[in-house]
Formats: sequence, structure tokens, C-alpha cells
Amino acid sequence: MSAKQFNSFEMAQQQFDRVADLLGLDQPTRELLRVPLREYQFSIPVRMDDGTVRVFRGFRVQHNDARGPSKGGIRFHPLETVDTVRALAMWMTWKCAVVDIPLGGGKGGVVCDPHNLSQREQESICRGWVRQMARNVGPVTDVPAPDVMTTPQHMVWMVDEFETIHGGRYPGFITGKPVGLGGSLGRTEATGYGVVYTIREALKELNVSPGSTSASVQGFGNVAQYAVRLYRQIGGTVVCVSSWDQADQTSYTFRKASGVDPDELVGITDHFGGIDKQKARDLGYEVLPGEAWIAQDVDILIPAALENQVRGDNVGKVSSHVKIVAEGANGPTTPEADKALQARGIFVIPDFLANAGGVTCSYFEQVQSNMNYFWEKDEVLSKLDTKMTSAFAAVSELARRQKLFSRDAAYVISISRVAKACRERGWV
Ligand code: NAD
Repeated sequence: MSAKQFNSFEMAQQQFDRVADLLGLDQPTRELLRVPLREYQFSIPVRMDDGTVRVFRGFRVQHNDARGPSKGGIRFHPLETVDTVRALAMWMTWKCAVVDIPLGGGKGGVVCDPHNLSQREQESICRGWVRQMARNVGPVTDVPAPDVMTTPQHMVWMVDEFETIHGGRYPGFITGKPVGLGGSLGRTEATGYGVVYTIREALKELNVSPGSTSASVQGFGNVAQYAVRLYRQIGGTVVCVSSWDQADQTSYTFRKASGVDPDELVGITDHFGGIDKQKARDLGYEVLPGEAWIAQDVDILIPAALENQVRGDNVGKVSSHVKIVAEGANGPTTPEADKALQARGIFVIPDFLANAGGVTCSYFEQVQSNMNYFWEKDEVLSKLDTKMTSAFAAVSELARRQKLFSRDAAYVISISRVAKACRERGWV
């Protein structure tokens, strides 16, 4: 499958169909779960700073809410499509189910590039998105959150618009808010840390000490930065990270064989996770082509940027050293590449398990917001560790017991739980 033809939703459905076959899922449940329950597509007219009006395309997809309100981020991206949003919504359903939190799957997006928009224009897009969706989202129906290129500030504008429309304070409407305004301590770290909790558990199973391992990371945004930090804390060495270069419209890998230092890299990274090439060279980093991250002689690969990054055409570059692929990003590995990783016996920690720390902490944020009582950071992170560790244990135990590929085992657990909720509700 070439990068051009790639369709995330077709891939999500292929993954689902495979497991539905494996489970012998009945036809109505299959039909219900392989497409979203509800979809919204709408226009957001925005008066730009120069006085002209531009119309942005917005989406919200609620894939399944049998286990609880839909939950999922809103992504701002120039190449956003409804199929990407559908796939991400479906993955959210499986993700919430695999960590066993009482939420369903949703996702939203706007076709836009915040790099080229002023703060005021971005605020208008956020408020416009909520105006279109205010009646179909909320604390007990569908709870949005940040995703690629959306920030806590965007979430504040959105909750403010929602509260203005509904006349009250509803901090549980949205997560990813700043601490002090309904946000949870630990949310910033949660996804990246969650990735590393699962890596730690996988290394235990492989009987490998973290201190003797190295990793290569794609991306240097929220997920990647905190994964790099915690992985270093447990003793690992990160030899490179990569990022998208807005000016050159391509990606680069930043390599330091002795180990990258996240603190010095953060200092030369813009708030979209783009690293400054020249400053990186000045700090002694080799600046390599974007795809170099995948070909490093490391123990662990952590794709933490975008979907469709490990494919049939580049999976051959994965070094024979690699023992674990921990999918920080959503949908980074195509089914074709998956087969190759499986055949090589590489331990894949699938996206909807590896990066479920974000939604788990968002769930904690929602619980705290609804109670209006906030926990200390240590309490949040220790609850997160417990959830991630038990989710990992359930998946790896099933994989071992039924001799399943780890991704299939995670899907079997999630799909069974969601199918059971649909059956118990009498939907199918
Ligand atoms: P982000 O916007 O903070 O960072 C994205 C990073 O990827 C940036 O460093 C960017 O430069 C880099 N990047 C973009 N395109 C690239 C390319 N072609 N090659 C190399 N690098 C590239 O986003 P994030 O929040 O870190 O999310 C990353 C991934 O993790 C996404 O797939 C997202 O859906 C997923 N995810 C995020 C969270 C969360 O809590 N933030 C939770 C679950 C899943």
C-alpha cells in the first residue's frame, strides 16, 4: 500500500474484520462495530484577521458508546479527512475497552493548519467547532480532548464556548484542560509515560533489563518527549528522535549515539514539536533524513508521530536488533508491515494499548472535573501505572495462552468487551 493510497479507516476495518473472524462474531454485531454509530460533518465559517471569511471543514465521529460516553481528541491538520477521523474514533473504542475504562470511542477534526493561523483565528475555529456540535457532545454523551496540533488553550476556548451556550460550568465536557482550570496533574506526561510503563512490562517478559537497552523514536511532540524522559529514567538510552520540518516540508532524524538529551532538545523545539536543524547541529546532533529513525540498531522502536509510518516498503529497514515496537502514535504500522514484524518475532505493543495512558488520564481528569476535587500528581500517575500494567498483563497473558499476535490479543479483549456491552444493552 503506497503512502498516497493509504486509508486509515480501511486499515482499521481490516484489523477489525480479522479479529471478528477469529472471534466468530455474529453478523449484526460485526455490522454494528465495523462502522461508526454517528458522524457529523460541518462547516465552520471564520472571519480572518484580514477581514475575509474562510470556511473550514469540521468533523466529529462517535464510533461506539455502549460502554460509556464517547471519548476522543480533536485534531487540526491540513490533510485531515473523514476517513482518518473514522479510523481514529474506532481505535478509541478499542483503546478505552482494552484499559477497561467506562468510555466509548469518538474523534474529531478540522481541516486547517494552525502554523498559518493567528491565535484569534484558532480561537474562532475552536468556538465554531463547539457551536456546531454543542448539542451532540457533553459530559454524559461525548467528551473531546486535544490531539495532533491542538493544545490546552484550544480546550479552554472550547469549554468556554460550551459553557456559554449551555449556561453553567461543565468542566467534564472536555479534557486536556490546563491545570487550575479543570485539568489533571499528570495529563501532560500520561501518554508518553504510559508507553514506557508498557515497554517496562514487555522487557520484564523478555527478561531484559531496561538499563541495557536503547531506543529510536519517531516524533518529538507530547507523546515522544515524555516517553523519552521516562525511558531514560528507567535506564534506557534514546539514540534518536525525529520531527517534521515546516519550512522544508519534510522530516528529519536527530541522532546522538551517546543518547539524546530531552531537556536540550526541548529548548530548540517549537510548540508543534519541530526541532531546529541548525541549533541541533550546534549541539552535536547528526541531522539525518526523516526515515533514518526506523533503521537504527536499537532494541526498541517507538513510532510517536503519525499513522502509516511502518509500511510494507520500509519494514525491511528495521534492524535485526529490534525486539519491541511500542506504538506511541495511532496506526503507525500497516497490516502488511505488521505481518513482517510478527514473522520476525518482534514484540509489538499495539497503539491502542501502548498509548492508552492519555485517555486513561483523561478519564481521571473527567472524574476529577465532575467531582470538582483534584488529586495529587503522584496519585494520578500511580493509578495510571496500575491501569496500564494490568491492561498489558491481560493482553500478554491472552497472547501467550491462545498463541496470538499481541495486536490480535488486544483486539480480542477490546472487541469482546464492546460486543458484550452491545449485547447486554439489547442492541444486537
Ligand atoms: P504532537 O503534535 O505533539 O507531536 C507530533 C510530532 O510528530 C512532532 O514532533 C512533529 O514534528 C512530528 N512529526 C509530524 N510528522 C512527522 C513525520 N512525517 N516524520 C517525523 N516526525 C513527524 O502530537 P502528539 O500529541 O505527540 O501525538 C503523536 C501521535 O500520538 C499521534 O498519532 C496521536 O494521535 C497519538 N496520540 C497522542 C496522544 C496524546 O495524549 N497526545 C494520545 C494518544 C495517541
